Amino acid sequence: MNSNNDIEKIRKEIFDLQAKISAWDNAYYNLDSPEVPDEIYDVEFNKLKALEEKYASFFSDEELKNSPTRKINALASDLFKKVKHKRPMLSLNKAYSLDEIQKFIDNIKKITSDFSFFIEPKIDGLSISIIYEDGKLVRAITRGDGITGEDVTANVVQMSCIPKTIEYKESLEVRGEVYLAISDFEKLNLKLGQENKNKLANPRNAAAGTLRQLNSQIIKERNLSAFLYYVVDPLQHNIKTMQEEHEFLKTYGFPVTHEVQHANTLQDIEEYIRNFKNQKLLIDYETDGVVIKLNEVQYFDKLGSTAKFPHYAIAFKYEPNVETTTIKRIYATVGRTGLVTYNAELEPVEISGSLVSFATLNNFQYIKDLNLNENDLVYIKKAGEIIPCVIGLISGKKEIDHFQKVEFCPYCHNKLVDSETGLEQFCSNDQCPEIQRRKLIHFCSKDGLDINTMGERNIDLFLKNSLISNPIDIFNLKNKKQDLLKLNRMGEKSIENILISIDECKNKPLYKMISALSIPLIGVKLAKFVASKIKSLHNLLNYDFSQLIDYHEIGDKIINSIISWISNDFNKKLVEDIINLGYDLKDENESITNLLENKSFVITGTLGHPRSYFERLIEKNGGLIHSSISSKTNYLLAGENAGSKLQKANKLNITIITEEDLFKMIGQ
Ligand code: AMP
Ligand code: ZN
Repeated sequence: MNSNNDIEKIRKEIFDLQAKISAWDNAYYNLDSPEVPDEIYDVEFNKLKALEEKYASFFSDEELKNSPTRKINALASDLFKKVKHKRPMLSLNKAYSLDEIQKFIDNIKKITSDFSFFIEPKIDGLSISIIYEDGKLVRAITRGDGITGEDVTANVVQMSCIPKTIEYKESLEVRGEVYLAISDFEKLNLKLGQENKNKLANPRNAAAGTLRQLNSQIIKERNLSAFLYYVVDPLQHNIKTMQEEHEFLKTYGFPVTHEVQHANTLQDIEEYIRNFKNQKLLIDYETDGVVIKLNEVQYFDKLGSTAKFPHYAIAFKYEPNVETTTIKRIYATVGRTGLVTYNAELEPVEISGSLVSFATLNNFQYIKDLNLNENDLVYIKKAGEIIPCVIGLISGKKEIDHFQKVEFCPYCHNKLVDSETGLEQFCSNDQCPEIQRRKLIHFCSKDGLDINTMGERNIDLFLKNSLISNPIDIFNLKNKKQDLLKLNRMGEKSIENILISIDECKNKPLYKMISALSIPLIGVKLAKFVASKIKSLHNLLNYDFSQLIDYHEIGDKIINSIISWISNDFNKKLVEDIINLGYDLKDENESITNLLENKSFVITGTLGHPRSYFERLIEKNGGLIHSSISSKTNYLLAGENAGSKLQKANKLNITIITEEDLFKMIGQ
């Protein structure tokens, strides 16, 4: 039995959580400026939901009515005219596991046994309702609190993707999501940065902030996008399923997502969820899960809704990849450009299957903003290949108590310098041993010349024994065989392999060398662009880079960076020496044919050459490579032991080809 004291403690904890989350809601929905990352929000929201369920008997209904778990904490702002929705615009209930989806299905089974599903990505933007009369757009309204929204018609008509007139003449209300494409978001932040304005936190808030601007011109400039996914009162328009609805919207010229699927069973749903986990990393809009909808519209009303969610749909959210742990130590490292990164050594913690002991803290400003210090309890996020990152304190501190700024390079002890923006710090010492080491590691890495025998371990070994100190020494290693043989751990065979793989660089495309050189601001993408212009390495030294100013890939800053890099005598000599040793690499990027133009390929199974061989072959002939099968895939190149991709391709009726077929297609 709980004592009164215990009950009061629990009630207080719950009220505190409600207040905290309501404040976060206000910042997120009404100020378009989130206070915490979505992952922390989700963790705390779910904690509140679980506590409210567990201790429901400690509260009256009235006390829980205003909890953020029960109502949408967004307000229609006074800046716009307020409009009541014809039908409420609700939120979606969330599922984090297949069990929870099963429960959602079980609830449908109570009223029918004849049903299927329609699955869509959950687009991370803000919802919009658009009304057409006699084929003309007459009004667009935000969700607001779900009952009353803001009239943003003047802004929505500025969005080029939204049709202003449609062929359909009945009164029609369509709903969907306004979002900012990731590429447009990046462009916008770049521009805001150049204008010394505050950058926006994420595409979702950028889209929300933009749509609720009073200046419609800004909407045009920022290129807001939208996907429509719902027709209000579908049966009145003779739409019987969500799949038909998708087709209806497409037919009348509304933008719709292509990543949708009809499904019959929980297994189908599971497969979509599994595939979409990878696919979502490749698409140009942010998603925060997938939405599983009952396909058959006729049951929607009967299933009904709560004040916050309908029962005909549920949003599946991928596990948040967030854990809590303690920061054991904070330390700074220096990268190949001299950029200083702050890192945290952690009490090891498992996040989605891998053990995490280190996480990035980015720069000093980040530490200051989050008020982080050693011994703090923090949230850590790790998603996919991304480096784990500390994203916030578990419970805030009232006083300022953060780790102090590092003033001197931990490797060469030179005084660090601040970047112009004050956000970053650099070690500006050309001779800094750590910068040299990082440059060598990059030179041989995948983003550089991709010499896979020259990993960090071997580079450190050669550095320690003074066999290399700058990239040219790598190409000269073949003259130091005797010294190499004297090293512990190095047999004749492995030395042979190292020298062969270095020699093989002669056949690599030019862009790999350009990217390997660590020219500031030149990553792989720009290296490809530069390579396509200069055609061979020797032109790097005499090419007139100022003529590239008209290309949108490249700006003043980048051109100046290349010019200043080349005008440094040390770099000039390095390039000359590389050329003299026989590594005057050429641009190979041009297509041989355009026989595969606009055809998309997915590769699976074991083939006669490494996968990268086929990727390059396809690309050189104009084709595109994708990592997962979708309805847009044209061909699956399948080798032996092909697995789930083959099954999926069969299901979607995608043409399956062998390597022989591919060679025939390109006339080889
Ligand atoms: P939330 O407000 O995050 O709880 O989730 C509900 C919101 O998800 C809805 O109001 C929509 O704005 C949004 N949403 C994004 N994509 C979809 C989709 N494909 N179907 C339905 N709602 C979606
Ligand atoms: Zn240094």
